[in-house]
Amino acid sequence: MKCGHCCTNQKIIVNLTHKDLFRLEREFNLKGKDLLPFIGFYLVEGDYSEEKIVFPPIKTIKGNAYLGLKKTNEGYCIFLEPKSKACLIHENRPQICRTFPFTYNMKNGWLSWGISEAAKDCIGLGKGKKISKKHLEMQGTQTIKELEEFKIIAELWNDYIELKKLSPTPHAFLEFMFNLQNSLISTIA
Ligand code: SF4
Repeated sequence: MKCGHCCTNQKIIVNLTHKDLFRLEREFNLKGKDLLPFIGFYLVEGDYSEEKIVFPPIKTIKGNAYLGLKKTNEGYCIFLEPKSKACLIHENRPQICRTFPFTYNMKNGWLSWGISEAAKDCIGLGKGKKISKKHLEMQGTQTIKELEEFKIIAELWNDYIELKKLSPTPHAFLEFMFNLQNSLISTIA
């Protein structure tokens, strides 16, 4: 409904996966470290339970961090045009922006969906066009596939860092992701 409500929510991280980085590549024709101006590394506060987290944190120089879109000083997504509330990268926006406020879960091959806790104050809920079951199934399957792939990639990166095979810098992480693009990712896609 183009309200910009969640795009301006300071508490929401616009989480990214490898696929979202490739979407940004498509949008800007930039890859690897050249995407750094748009990418934030949000440190995980306190202990985290692997069972609870959806997006896996990655190891960085400063600690475990979530990968997300950068925000402005006001806490808005950098791709929100504040006056019109338009998304400046609509065609290539991250998967989480396509699916919010829905969340998806796959258990024993069964897909289920619900509403994100972060959407408690969503002003668009219950408004607009009805979403078909087919659409939810399609979005859910894709979201889970991308997330599962990203979990493998994040684990690989974290192992490399643990073994001191790579330097845990944002620069190195983005280069690592794009170097994988033509090898590992094509085999797990
Ligand atoms: S990428 Fe677009 S839709 Fe997603 S949070 Fe930013 S402005 Fe909103």
